[in-house]
Amino acid sequence: MELIRLENVCKSYRRGTLDIPVLQGVSLTVERGELVALVGVSGSGKSTLMNILGCLDRPTSGRYWLDGQEISSASADDRAVLRNTKIGFVFQNFNLLARTSALNNARMPLDYSPAHPSDTDSRHHAERMLQLVGLADRMDHEPAALSGGQQQRVAIARSLINRPQLLLADEPTGNLDSRTTEDLLQMLQRLNQTEGLTIIIVTHDESVARHAQRIIRMKDGVIVDEGPPAQSQLVNRAETPGLPPPPGAPLHGDFSQFKNVARTARMALRALRRNVMRSALTCLGIIIGIAAVIAMMEIGGGSSRSIQQAIASLGASMIQIDPADVSVAGVSSGRGGRATLTMEDAEALRSECSILQNVAPSVDCEGQAIYGNRNWRVGRILGATPDYLAVRNWPVEEGDPFTMDDVRASAAVCLIGRTVADKLFGTESPLGKELRLRGIGLKVVGILGRKGANVMGQDQDDFLVAPLTTIKFRVTGRRQWTQSVGASSAPGSGNARSQVYPSQQPPLYPPQSASQAADTPQLVRFTDLDDVWVAAGSPRNIPLAIRQVTAVLRDRHHLRAGAPDDFKIRDHTEISETFAATSRVMTNLLLVVALICWVVECRWQSPRYCIGPLCRRCPPSLPPSQWR
Ligand code: ADP
Ligand code: MG
Repeated sequence: MELIRLENVCKSYRRGTLDIPVLQGVSLTVERGELVALVGVSGSGKSTLMNILGCLDRPTSGRYWLDGQEISSASADDRAVLRNTKIGFVFQNFNLLARTSALNNARMPLDYSPAHPSDTDSRHHAERMLQLVGLADRMDHEPAALSGGQQQRVAIARSLINRPQLLLADEPTGNLDSRTTEDLLQMLQRLNQTEGLTIIIVTHDESVARHAQRIIRMKDGVIVDEGPPAQSQLVNRAETPGLPPPPGAPLHGDFSQFKNVARTARMALRALRRNVMRSALTCLGIIIGIAAVIAMMEIGGGSSRSIQQAIASLGASMIQIDPADVSVAGVSSGRGGRATLTMEDAEALRSECSILQNVAPSVDCEGQAIYGNRNWRVGRILGATPDYLAVRNWPVEEGDPFTMDDVRASAAVCLIGRTVADKLFGTESPLGKELRLRGIGLKVVGILGRKGANVMGQDQDDFLVAPLTTIKFRVTGRRQWTQSVGASSAPGSGNARSQVYPSQQPPLYPPQSASQAADTPQLVRFTDLDDVWVAAGSPRNIPLAIRQVTAVLRDRHHLRAGAPDDFKIRDHTEISETFAATSRVMTNLLLVVALICWVVECRWQSPRYCIGPLCRRCPPSLPPSQWR
């Protein structure tokens, strides 16, 4: 009765665009209990054929039946079950586990067995198998303490421990001397005769082939001849004791039982104990690797944040809101022509726009600053609230910033930039000194940190900032602060001290009621601002911040749908784009470095051995080069 049947099996390997045919139409049958030798020169395709017979590889075309079951179309899992239960493998270089006793090497397939034999049973069974191959006195020896012949016997004991129907031996005597070769071949003959084990020996050696019942000769991927050997060395050895049956249940069990966690853990621990030093070093490598990746991510994250802050300090997350222009008789007023932004608008932005971190209203001023006998036309003079410094991310280097109390009290104080300090005070310390701006004395309470030129090349340190109310009412004095005060004061009299505390002093007359105001409308000037500066926190928030600001201001200014905005929003697109590009590069760089780390890590740390019962693919005696 036949065990193996091959019909016109072809196998070719693809190299680039080239197909290399290795097997070119092999047809073959092997009967149960036959001892066959597969002979041919090196490169004739013997190993390739054996891999197909052993269900390790699939033919490119042709059909293959093993034990009546067609394999050529079987799935990888089905082939794994067949390999585990029906086939034993023996290889030229033994493939025993180093630092593992002969006994543990031989019993290893039982750990993978779906029959789950107990520890004691597998031990006894492995002992019997080693006795059978003549190694009763070498059970505790590790491979390094065994001769080549003894190692090959251990490998044979291992391949037979699950009592397979087919034993495939690829050049099993290739590394052995002639005497050991003879011993080993006699042992294989014995197993064949007493157990009815079907054996296929792959060899290029005629003297080895003579021990078989039939010799199949291959050349260039085809079978060129087959028949019994001319000078047979087949000896009848029927007196030898038979193979003991494997322990546990029959070996055609359910492979899902393989997922036995306890067994897996036991095997894993055994494997770790086997190589304590290597395990420790591997763990150390993994720990160092992970720590390095985490450290790198953190360092990268930190530098990314610091770059972000540096760019943000340029004003990347800042938005400037101006009143819109107005055209009178076809002549445009330019920026800020209409007085549409008020202190109340700024307050509404602060309370209603969730994305904004800081809101700073400001008014502009121009003028000559004078100290002693020196004077300087300051590049930019601003009346603002202390939030302006937060929006611009501008620290006070010496002295202290002014406060909201100074704003409420229109205090005669100011902060100056480095250029102003140098021009007006030279080597003197400006702190506590009083400079004069348009006839008003302002005490210098602090000096701003150096900012240098902006992207347009303007010197940002040529700057003076004072409380908003001070500039608006005491220095320029042209515009009014609140409606209640504004209604009773004439334009141009802004320097009057009576206008300084608009919200704190009770009005002389009771305020108008809503109906009075409707009946007798009075000409009221807006409590206008020249700019509102807002900080969105991060350049990424800018689009949302613009949407929120627009919605709030349009609502407050009662603009109909479709009507143009009566304000202009300016963001720092150029700086934001620089920021976006920088953070993109930084993120990609980190990603690549982290990936390289992981690839190197995985390459070196990945286990190069099977993972025990969870591995359904590899028969235990498969060489590492073929583990998958
Ligand atoms: P042998 O008879 O010596 O065991 P093999 O079956 O190992 O020969 O190889 C037969 C031919 O197939 C050789 O020429 C070899 O180079 C080629 N070969 C084997 N495996 C591969 C592969 N994975 N890819 C490409 N060519 C292969
Ligand atoms: Mg070979």
